[in-house]
Amino acid sequence: MRTLLAEHPLVTHKLTLLRASSTDTPTFRMLADELVTLLAYEATRDVRVLPVEVTTPVGVTMGAKIASPRPLIVPVLRAGIGMLDGMTRLLPMASVGFVGMVRDEDSLVASTYANRLPTDLTGREVFVLDPMLATGGTLVTVISTLFDRGAAAVTAICLLAAPEGLARIDEAFPGENVRVVTGAIDDRLNDKGYIVPGLGDAGDRLFGAV
Ligand code: URA
Repeated sequence: MRTLLAEHPLVTHKLTLLRASSTDTPTFRMLADELVTLLAYEATRDVRVLPVEVTTPVGVTMGAKIASPRPLIVPVLRAGIGMLDGMTRLLPMASVGFVGMVRDEDSLVASTYANRLPTDLTGREVFVLDPMLATGGTLVTVISTLFDRGAAAVTAICLLAAPEGLARIDEAFPGENVRVVTGAIDDRLNDKGYIVPGLGDAGDRLFGAV
């Protein structure tokens, strides 16, 4: 697994606002949307392209277009939905699949409650959206499902990551075909599985407490 920490003053500035407990839900949503676009720029650095010829008003040159099969974007419900618009803005040609995961608050074990993914992902590059990489349990389950269906490479885009979660992904997927792109690597998890200092419950802050 490769970790890419997107160290950029704009990312840190927006993450700092996102972390603040005084940031309200509309502002939080806007910042998450802006941040995913910045992280997606890094995450798509190796996306497969095909050379194509393009005619400009003054000549002909070679350019590139995103190759087939098209990439797949997978927001992990619920909080990943807050990152979807920012990602599709950058990759409008991508298709979108959905996975719903819920974490038991006592055992911290994640289980799947929804799965709307193509059954055949042979050769597809997949971008998984989950704002918080905490224990890593959710991502391990989602990435395993994607590889079981034939995905060629998986990049997880997370606004924040905990060292424990990164280590768990690395242990589960030691190969080069899994990458995590994140805006910050925080200190640790607390006993409730929250990232410290983190930003609290990303789903609640995006959509309000259930
Ligand atoms: N999920 C969240 O929303 N926040 C955390 O800190 C960890 C998991």
